[in-house]
Amino acid sequence: MEKRKCTAIVLAAGRGKRMQSKIQKQFLEIQGYPVLYYSLRCFQESSLIGEIILVTGEDTVSYCKEEIVDKFSFTKVTGIIPGGKERYDSVYAGLLACEDCDYVFIHDGARPFITDDILKRGLEGAIETGACVVGMPSKDTVKLSDDKGYVRETPERSCVWTIQTPQIFRYSLIRNAHDSIRLKDMSMITDDAMVVEQETGTRIRLVEGSYQNIKITTPEDLTVAESFIRSNRLLSAP
Ligand code: C5P
Repeated sequence: MEKRKCTAIVLAAGRGKRMQSKIQKQFLEIQGYPVLYYSLRCFQESSLIGEIILVTGEDTVSYCKEEIVDKFSFTKVTGIIPGGKERYDSVYAGLLACEDCDYVFIHDGARPFITDDILKRGLEGAIETGACVVGMPSKDTVKLSDDKGYVRETPERSCVWTIQTPQIFRYSLIRNAHDSIRLKDMSMITDDAMVVEQETGTRIRLVEGSYQNIKITTPEDLTVAESFIRSNRLLSAP
């Protein structure tokens, strides 16, 4: 693969109200390390990634620098910057901080279990069309509801994917899409591919992430995450 300059934007500026914890979910510990540590380590160790921009709350910039980036020698982190009110504001702050890259990996710091293989699949997909999201085919049947709590539609399960991060884009594509959507109503935006879908005609490539690539959102996710780490350690033990 031709060498391309790739930057990871890792988002850790959310408040995480659904966790019901004083500590934000990306800083809670799993097996002795903060949630955020795991994805930063994957980007740090990946030969695909040149730089990492970490986006966090204004009040947690120095915590991230001292207790995560310096402590674990994440030398690829070239910026720790404050995010914004909504996720898309934090993404935009990250995009402004990495203007000189070819491809950008936008990742939720609350998803610890990415792997180098996922990053490789994602970049290959993004090189194909300019935009790629990782996800997994849904194991459950999905139903769309109306606003009164009745089933409106049942999409064919084989076509339903649940979407994860990272989402990988050609920098100019995602930057232009964000620049133009910022002038409009963004209240329905929940991921980065939606911005590209709405603002450009680009086809978004879907590639497999993994069923372990969960987002730590509610307290039971921490229990599941602990068990993933324990069983992965057992599998990789000599
Ligand atoms: O709230 P949600 O689970 O969708 O957040 C996904 C990711 O986006 C988390 O890693 C969170 O820290 C980040 N986020 C952010 N800035 C916000 C809201 C969320 O960086 N304003």
